[in-house]
Amino acid sequence: MSTVNDKVKSGGAPEDTPKVSNFLRQIIESDLALGTYAQRNWAGSPGDAAHQAKGTFDPAKIRTRFPPEPNGYLHVGHAKSICLNFGLARDYGGVCHMRFDDTNPEKEDTEYVNSILDAVKWLGFNWEAHGTSHLYQASDYFDFMYRAAEFLIQAGLAYVDEQSADDMRSNRGDFNTPGKDSPFRSRTSAENLNRFREMRDGKLADGAAVLRAKIDMASPNINMRDPAIYRIRRATHHNTGDTWCIYPMYTFAHPIEDALEQITHSICTLEFEDQRPFYDWLMARLSESHAMPDGLQLAALLAHPSPKQYEFARLNLTYVITSKRKLAQLVTEGKVKGWDDPRMPTIVGLRRRGYTPESLQLFAERIGVTKSDSWIDYSTLEGCLRDDLDPKSARAMAVLDPIQLTITNWDELMGAGSLDDCHAPVHPHHPEMGQRHFKIGKSLWIERTDYEETPPKGFFRLYPGNKVRLKYGHVIECTGAKKDAHGNLTEVLAQLIPDTKSGTPGSDSVKVKGVITWVSQADALLAEVRLYDRLFTEAHPDAGGKDFLSSLNPDSLKLIQAYVEPSLASSQPDAKFQFERHGYFVADRIDYTGNKPVFNRCTGLKDTWSK
Ligand code: ATP
Ligand code: MG
Repeated sequence: MSTVNDKVKSGGAPEDTPKVSNFLRQIIESDLALGTYAQRNWAGSPGDAAHQAKGTFDPAKIRTRFPPEPNGYLHVGHAKSICLNFGLARDYGGVCHMRFDDTNPEKEDTEYVNSILDAVKWLGFNWEAHGTSHLYQASDYFDFMYRAAEFLIQAGLAYVDEQSADDMRSNRGDFNTPGKDSPFRSRTSAENLNRFREMRDGKLADGAAVLRAKIDMASPNINMRDPAIYRIRRATHHNTGDTWCIYPMYTFAHPIEDALEQITHSICTLEFEDQRPFYDWLMARLSESHAMPDGLQLAALLAHPSPKQYEFARLNLTYVITSKRKLAQLVTEGKVKGWDDPRMPTIVGLRRRGYTPESLQLFAERIGVTKSDSWIDYSTLEGCLRDDLDPKSARAMAVLDPIQLTITNWDELMGAGSLDDCHAPVHPHHPEMGQRHFKIGKSLWIERTDYEETPPKGFFRLYPGNKVRLKYGHVIECTGAKKDAHGNLTEVLAQLIPDTKSGTPGSDSVKVKGVITWVSQADALLAEVRLYDRLFTEAHPDAGGKDFLSSLNPDSLKLIQAYVEPSLASSQPDAKFQFERHGYFVADRIDYTGNKPVFNRCTGLKDTWSK
């Protein structure tokens, strides 16, 4: 390696990135052109039809939402969803709601709530719009969900089923066999209402009954064979405590959350495609009026027009695991050092690895959204990081595998013990970023691999008799090296060629083929450098039920002591650098302290995994 990789690609800020159209953009543009949602009201907060009717025209042209369950740390797949939902709202004059989908009492944990909010904000988004904070939690809608369930019962569209779990399963049928009606399916509305209230009041044991939508036990879509919408579960909920012993099923709760919040485009991953008919069925039933068996009218509960669900392919990234359960296993089994370990694909981990919000936004933009599952190569993610960091990160020299270089004629030429000043641009293409300053002297640190006693063909760096340039410094000629009793290299020797200092007149009169990086023993800083690499050696670590722990990369972290140039003394945690010839590094945000600089490798200068 004889040159420093300073190529600058376009890229960087996502605002500069042309927005590639996709099926979701086309749907939204068509809805805007048709005025599909132009007549919607918004009363300033989520609510039913009567509540929204009190509002005025919704200033948001579209409403999307990002609805994580607060049961873990967000990962790179969520970043895709965040950029998509918040990005579409931003681009089309809409609002994206931040919603905690906390209807499942067993799983959530308030510990995760703040980390999720931090991650979304850090990625560059927020939920403030039109003077309102659109931060919601689905459990605040439990009262309404209960009301919607009674509404369906009164309309003859839901029934309490008390079959055993086994009977329910076998009567559901399968792909080839239609289901069989439950013996409880013909209960009257009044009976159902009574029984459902008994469920609510704790008169039935957990699992003794469920409320089911009454749709079609012969539907070719098994999700439409009278899906369960409420179950009995005695569990303390983090928000509602012990108020409820019945909880709505996700497939019932989610469309209602969307409708109460006046969401227009409800974007989810492909595995929910089969749920869409039920989503549409439920939205249609709750937004129309119904004649009750006794002749009275039930007024529609939800406002028109209803939200619509659209599915896109989730992010699958090679060499990466995105299952929360498996990520948790890596943490609890000590395979990594916590959720924010720089090898983790969590947003906190990526951040500590040196990923910027811009690089992740660029990634989301580049991979786009599609309707079919595919794998994105890990190098695409790293490429986005390089493209973002290259134009904006300061350069620095660092020696990662140091060996001493002694300039044997220094004292004679320059004066014993003297040091000379060198300078270099902070960024080769941005003079406005200024200059770095460092010293050169008799004793330097260079990379061990920059010396070869017997050079292989094409090796242009140090070997006896060869001349190289010390980057930003002088040309030297190698005169030999010293070894210890075991034959290990201990010191490289060279002589300085006078009048060759970079930037001085005639400095290039001596032609060399190699340029090496170095730091001076007089002013270099000792730093801990953490060389991170991919966490798995296999592209699909958990494919086909494989034990993902069996392909953990034993070399995913190498801890080294390195010497870095003195300009890094003042670096702030989170600051990114390009260590010339080595790649991009970030000052660790957690462990970096003034007297112990710690740098994490974000990524190399180029992809070393592709063959
Ligand atoms: P897990 O199954 O690991 O628990 P999840 O998908 O259930 O994760 P949620 O908290 O429910 O996690 O996800 C919030 C949002 O993020 C959902 O809308 C979901 O579609 C989206 N999301 C999650 N994983 C991915 C992914 N890999 N690619 C794109 N979007 C994703
Ligand atoms: Mg989920």
